Amino acid sequence: MTASGAWLLVVEDEEPARRLLRAYLARRGYRVDEAASAREAMRAWEAHRPDLVLLDLGLPDLDGVEVIRRIRRDAVTPIIVLSARGEERDKVAGLEAGADDYLSKPFSIGELEARIRAVLRRLGPDVGPDGRLRLGQVELDPVRRSVTVAGDPVHFSPREYELLKVLLSNQGRLVTRERLLRAVWGHEHAGAREYLHVYVGRLRHKLADAGVGPAIEQMIATEPGIGYRVAAPRPTVPLDAPAAV
Ligand code: CA
Repeated sequence: MTASGAWLLVVEDEEPARRLLRAYLARRGYRVDEAASAREAMRAWEAHRPDLVLLDLGLPDLDGVEVIRRIRRDAVTPIIVLSARGEERDKVAGLEAGADDYLSKPFSIGELEARIRAVLRRLGPDVGPDGRLRLGQVELDPVRRSVTVAGDPVHFSPREYELLKVLLSNQGRLVTRERLLRAVWGHEHAGAREYLHVYVGRLRHKLADAGVGPAIEQMIATEPGIGYRVAAPRPTVPLDAPAAV
């Protein structure tokens, strides 16, 4: 799906912010529904089944996390949380409930659109017809359990390989540390907590050395205190000058 023309639902109780988002996104070619409460959000969700939901967590009638849970009961529609700065616990709760990403307020409208494009591009990881996962020049073959960079094999330990596989399967979204630990270490993950960043560091190092170079820091980006965001190197599309929302 092209980003432009996608149907967005903006859930935000502060009217000026909601109006600004709506006006901007409509100008960029998106179709936009608005909701000022969780109740309105669920009504709009049922009526139109939008392609993407922008969700403020602090709503007057119900916690935004509940809205995520209700949407996730029957759909994988991308959800981007719009969160007040410093509410780390809320962000994690939103991501754990199934949100794909979040933006801290105030955010630049250019950054918002980049995230919207990233999650709309997702719709499943970048899997080729051969079942391989790709991120830029990196290719992971789950059948052979092998990884190549620009066609050249790179060796990973079994844990490193599993970690890379989970990361590549979640392109375009923010993966929490908790989720990675559960997926890669399973029940024994409590002991791995402090090593996660070491493993990710090794992954980045090997991929950078194998030819990815410094771009790896953007491709597997750290979100401090929360987790990792995986995205293909950004195309150099000019975005509007940043305007705070
Ligand atoms: Ca609010």
